[in-house]
Order: sequence, then C-alpha cells, then structure tokens
Amino acid sequence: MPSIEKMMDEVFRSGKFSHGKQVGQLEAELARYTGARHVIGVNSGTDALVLLLRAAGLRPGDGVLVPAYSFFATASAVVLAGGVPEFVDIDPETYAMDPAALEAAVGPRSRFVMPVHLFHTMADLTAIGAIARRRGLTVVEDSAEAIGMRRAGVHAGLHGAGGVLSFFPTKTLGAIGDAGAVLTDDPEVADTIRALRHHGRAGSTLNDFRAISTETTLPGVNSKMDDLQAAVLLAKLPLLERQIVRRAELAEAYTARLADVPGILRLPRTTAKGPDALERDVYYVYLIETERRDELVAHLERLGIGTEVYYPVPLAHQPAFARPGHEPGGFPHAERAARHAVALPFHPDLGLGELDRVCDAVRSFHTKTRTAA
Ligand SMILES: *Cc1c(COP(=O)(O)O)cnc(C)c1O
Repeated sequence: MPSIEKMMDEVFRSGKFSHGKQVGQLEAELARYTGARHVIGVNSGTDALVLLLRAAGLRPGDGVLVPAYSFFATASAVVLAGGVPEFVDIDPETYAMDPAALEAAVGPRSRFVMPVHLFHTMADLTAIGAIARRRGLTVVEDSAEAIGMRRAGVHAGLHGAGGVLSFFPTKTLGAIGDAGAVLTDDPEVADTIRALRHHGRAGSTLNDFRAISTETTLPGVNSKMDDLQAAVLLAKLPLLERQIVRRAELAEAYTARLADVPGILRLPRTTAKGPDALERDVYYVYLIETERRDELVAHLERLGIGTEVYYPVPLAHQPAFARPGHEPGGFPHAERAARHAVALPFHPDLGLGELDRVCDAVRSFHTKTRTAA
C-alpha cells in the first residue's frame, strides 16, 4: 500500500495539480468502494450538493424539502442552486428527516426531497422514497457524512438521483484540505456535473480554455478536485474499512460505559456494523444528548476535553433561513437536539485509556450535579 508521501510525490513529479491522473484514479476507486456507476470529484461536499441539485433538474424557485436540523451547507446549497429550502422536522432516534413530518410538509412548490444522513446512521429511505414517488418528488441525498453506510446493500447517496461525499479533513475519510464528490447511477446527471464542475465543458483539460471560451453553452463553475487531495485520499482509502470497524468498537465502548449515567437523555442506537452487513451504520461522530449540555461542555473543557456541539441552532431558525412560520416550537425534535446534543472526542486513533477518562469526566459531572440538585 503506497504511503501518503509517496502518492503526493507522484503528483509533484507529474507537474499536473488539477483534474489530473490521481483524480481519475480516485473516482474509479470510489466507484468500486461505493458501487456507484459514476463518481465525479469536485472541490467540496458543498459544491457537490449545489452541482447535483442543478444537474438533477432543479429550476429557479423549486422547493427542496430538507431536515430542519443539519449542517448549514444542506440548506445553503439549495439556495445557491436557485431553490427554496422547505424544512421538515427530524426523527429523534436517527436525527434524520421524519417521514411523517415530510408528508405534512410537501407543498405546491416542492419538487425535491433531500434527506441527510447524520452522525452514524441513515434516514428512513424506504418511507421517504415511497412518499417521494407518490408526491412526484426527486430524491437527492446529502450523504456528505455517510461514507460506508448502506441500506439494503446500497451505499448512501445511491437511493435516488444521486448523493455526495465530503472529504473535509474531519470527515470519516478526510483529505488535507477541501474536496468532495458526487455519486450517481444516472449517466445524464453525471455528464452534466462533469461539465458544470469545469465551466460547463466536460472532458476538458486544463489547456482547453480556448474551447471553453468559444463553444460552451452551459455556464458552469470552477470546482475541480486537486490531485494532491486525490493522492492523499487514494492512500487513505485502503485503510477505511479497518477504521470503520475501529469506530464501531469505540462507539460500543462509549455506550457500555455511559449506559447507566443519570441525566444522559440519549445514547446512539447501534445497528449493524460488520463490513459485509447489508444494513450498515458507520460512526462519523459519537453523539449523546444530555439535560445540561452547555454546562457539561464547559466542565469537559476545564478538564482539557474537547467536544463539538452539532448543531447548536436548527436550520429553520438560523438568520439565513428564518422565515415567518419558522417560530420556536414548530420543529420540536430539531429544537430538542439543538439544545441537548453534544459529540464526544472520537477518531479511530482514540485509545481506550483516553475514552475512559472522557467517560469518567462525563459521569462525575452528572453524579455531582445530581447530588447538588
Ligand atoms: C460536511 C458536510 C457538508 C459539506 O461538506 P464540505 O466538504 O465541508 O463542503 C454538507 N452536509 C453535511 C451534512 C456535512 O456534514
């Protein structure tokens, strides 16, 4: 297995840093890994979402149903593609779009539904797919966090018109900067994205600016992937399955140690994790919900333990997306998660000793505040 250094050195020696050999190799390896017919490397997961929505036929003003609780880019990508985000409350178990809430939220302008797979598990695509078929909605998936996750043996992102991957450094498969990809089985969607990522001209090389300037009819963007990022990802991809197993072991260890701590409201529910499982969850982060979340975060910070609050404000209440009708109380499960959820330290190199220390600190916080109360 070639090292990251060796793979990067090949790029330096080739002198071709954008849209070159390593990007093509990575696209082929990711197609093999995910089972997608087409993988198109782009500059980020966010760009992948914008280009996917455009290529899947979004027209200006189209409504795109998205969960009220996700990363900012889920909703901003809809706006950047020309659409209007329409927010749907989440299922408290999966943190993904709740199918019953989706049914109620479909409106006259709705043309797309974009479920998001967050943290360690996937949206209920069977129920969402059935509603989408009945209501004439195109399904695209924000699977930016979901590399390795599967339902019915099908990788995340391939249950509708297409999905995305993000290789932001903190993601399950991380680059050393920004990178992303679109996954799709649809050849027309794939061709359109290959054109859109390169000013509107598929198959172009870097020296093609004359052709771009004289023959292009579809104004695209510049969202190519760097070959240095592709080289790093090519070196890391063969380690991914082993890391996914390790992530599952660490999640299990957390759950075993935290199961009886008073004051913890919710621990993640683990489903199938084996490499051959048709239904497979992958732990991207380990997220708990607790009554006094902000105090716990401060307590852990004093002990030098870093946490991350995913996501502190529901999308529907953020300044960029707030609208009349988005009043507090309208998305109760999203609001509850925003108030109580916190991710504990989690990465495949985390040692059990470190994990024990985190669990002891979480336990002592909850027992002490209990006694004091
Ligand atoms: C990370 C992420 C994105 C955006 O990916 P970038 O590569 O950071 O642009 C979009 N949606 C979700 C749910 C994410 O976690």
